[in-house]
Amino acid sequence: MKIISVNAGSSSLKFQLFEMDNETTIASGLIERIGLEQGIVTIKYSGKKIVNNLEVKDHKVAVDILLKALFENHIIETIDEIKGVGHRIVQGGEIFDSNCLINQKVVSDILDLQELAPLHNKAHVTGINAFLEVLPNTPEVAVFDTTFHRTMDEVTYLYATPYEWYTKYGIRKYGAHGTSHQYVSSICNHLLNKKDSKIIVCHLGNGASICAIRDGKCIDTSMGLTPLEGIPMGTRSGNIDPTIFGVISKKENKTIDEILNALNKESGLLGVSGISSDSRDIEDAMKSGIKRAELAFNIQVKRIVDYIASYYVLLEGLDAICFTAGIGENSSVTRKAIVDKLKVLNIYLDEDLNKLRGQNLISSKESSVKVYVIPTNEEVMIAREVIRLANLK
Ligand code: ADP
Repeated sequence: MKIISVNAGSSSLKFQLFEMDNETTIASGLIERIGLEQGIVTIKYSGKKIVNNLEVKDHKVAVDILLKALFENHIIETIDEIKGVGHRIVQGGEIFDSNCLINQKVVSDILDLQELAPLHNKAHVTGINAFLEVLPNTPEVAVFDTTFHRTMDEVTYLYATPYEWYTKYGIRKYGAHGTSHQYVSSICNHLLNKKDSKIIVCHLGNGASICAIRDGKCIDTSMGLTPLEGIPMGTRSGNIDPTIFGVISKKENKTIDEILNALNKESGLLGVSGISSDSRDIEDAMKSGIKRAELAFNIQVKRIVDYIASYYVLLEGLDAICFTAGIGENSSVTRKAIVDKLKVLNIYLDEDLNKLRGQNLISSKESSVKVYVIPTNEEVMIAREVIRLANLK
């Protein structure tokens, strides 16, 4: 059974087409620069990669191009072969406690949540409508980044700001990367095979968040109202003292939006190092002895360790730490730097296992907590949700 998993951004559309009988990716692709002069269409299948430059007027045209490419390359023969479409939605607010089949009410609710995710939710709806137009009889499912975090209690999700900000405007912690945290922790739970398991997942990519999970349920996570909160990331600052807004606004005559832009796009690894947001560049620069690269790396590691330590206490102990996403899966250097700071909790790395690639246990026999690398797969999780919610078995 073929299911397509979609991530629609304001000017891009990313997709993966799965054969869900064996959960393999048959084709994947990215359509970029939608609505701009020269679009870029990249389609990958059977080890081949096709890149075309052409105008992509809007998301509907992007979906047409994507389906045409699937036909032309004989990846599918008829449109009916696609049995369902799953959409990644960044913000589900307090409306969506679970993922769901998409109907007109769901679409308008996603739009109502726009204020909490201005860049994302509107773009997601554009993607949903484009698929509805082209595949009107195919079930579409919304999979929210926030639903996994809906089990946090109010002591955890409320900020200590005026309570009316919450009741009037929904100002609270929602978290993100929920689909990834859920996927990775479910694999970890399977490996642990233990009741009431206590797990910390470190999703360390360009965007990065940490999640404390007890018995399969999120009890706390590092991202907040938006993905800006938490640990420093590729270009995001993570937690700061909000007073910085006032100081920078006066010193540099900047607006709130300009400062927010700097905190989202010019901070983190990039801001501190002045070199790059990409951890590979940071590691290379560290090898060349560049001090600010080392500083950027160490600040990120320190803040990650702070969260692990605080979640250890919150969970009242710990069974496993899981590393996932671009840095978590690939950077043995980052993993080592983090786990080396956890010796006080009797958590130890096996340095040889840490050098392996793919899913692995990387802690030593002496470690009181298991440490795993578990590659994430948000797209397959979305496709699984389509099958479950559209009853496609
Ligand atoms: P996102 O999905 O948030 O854009 P990814 O999960 O793809 O991000 O992670 C991107 C990050 O992973 C980048 O900082 C990149 O440098 C890092 N990364 C990927 N491969 C490696 C590697 N081999 N060593 C170190 N870092 C890596």
